[in-house]
This record gives sequence, structure tokens and C-alpha cells, in this order.
Amino acid sequence: MKKTMILVSAALLSAGSAFGWAAWGPVYTDNQLPVPVWADETTDLPDCAGKTEYTGTSKRAYVTWNQVTNTKFAWTIGGWGGPFGGAGDNYNSIRFKEISDAGVLGVTVLNFYQGLRDCDIKIDVNQNWQCGPDLANWRQMDMESVILHEVGHQLGLDHSSNSNAVMWWAIGMGENQRSLHSDDIAGIRSLYPQ
Ligand SMILES: [Zn+2]
Repeated sequence: MKKTMILVSAALLSAGSAFGWAAWGPVYTDNQLPVPVWADETTDLPDCAGKTEYTGTSKRAYVTWNQVTNTKFAWTIGGWGGPFGGAGDNYNSIRFKEISDAGVLGVTVLNFYQGLRDCDIKIDVNQNWQCGPDLANWRQMDMESVILHEVGHQLGLDHSSNSNAVMWWAIGMGENQRSLHSDDIAGIRSLYPQ
């Protein structure tokens, strides 16, 4: 069964020429780069062998986006375990929390206040996660793949119409997509040209 990775925002869509990628809102300005992100390491995830496992998986997803060449965009790790409060607190964050809709794996919310203020990722705690670094089997959801997707929203990409892209809207059990597709790479390069 395919599950959904959704985003919530007032999206401004723009088509990406021959590619399937799209933008979904404001992009970070030059003086905001590299963009800091703060990560939750306080949640007990039953599928993971301790917090170092899922924080390591989160880091790999951010690094994968950082490894794209010919773009000025870059993430930097602000800190692990906070500080953060919630929407509009000025901290971009990734947290592991309960998402009540059983079909939703992760949600990225863009909070506006006088321009782009912060963008928060929530990853559902109640999935049969493969926390990594092992690959997900047919009974598991791959956490790194889902985080890689949500981080794409966090930096400004919407869903792609290319079903092979990381930014495709859905993923199934046992699907491991931990590398960016050329469509995803075209998207970040276009949003953040060097
Ligand atoms: Zn999504």
C-alpha cells in the first residue's frame, strides 16, 4: 500500500520546464544560507535502536541534499534536541511525533510571519520504520527515504510529477529511495542557482 507524504501550505506552483519538479513557496534568501535546522532527539521510537540511529538517519538525509553540486543551497545542523517550541518559533525543525492520519508518514509545514519564518517537519512515530542504515524490507517503511522527501519540501520543492523522483508524493513499503533523482537535482539547482 502506498502511503502519502504531504505538505501543508499556501503553495505557489511553478512548472519546471521539461522536468517534473515544482516550487511550493518562498525560497531562502542568500543571507539565510546555509539554513540551520534543529532536530528532535528526545522521542522514543520503538522501531529504532536508540536516538543516535534516527538522528544519524536525519543527518544523512540533510547531507544528501547538501551534496548536490552547482547550487548555492546548503543546510547546517543548528543543534540536536532543540531549542524549538513550535510553529513560528524561528527554528526550522525535524521532529518525531504522532500523526493521526494512518496513511500519512510525514508532514512539512511552512509557517509564515512577515515572510518565511520557519519550516517544520513532523515524522510519524507509528509506522513500521526501517531506521537505517539497513535497507527497508517489504514490511518496512524506509525512514531515510521519507525524511529525504520532507527535507525537499523544507528547502522549497513541491511534489514532482515524475514518479521516479524523491519528490513524488507517495512511497510504499520496501521502497528505498535514498539518492536524489536528476529531477530533484534540477529542482534545487533552479531554486538556488550558483
Ligand atoms: Zn510530500
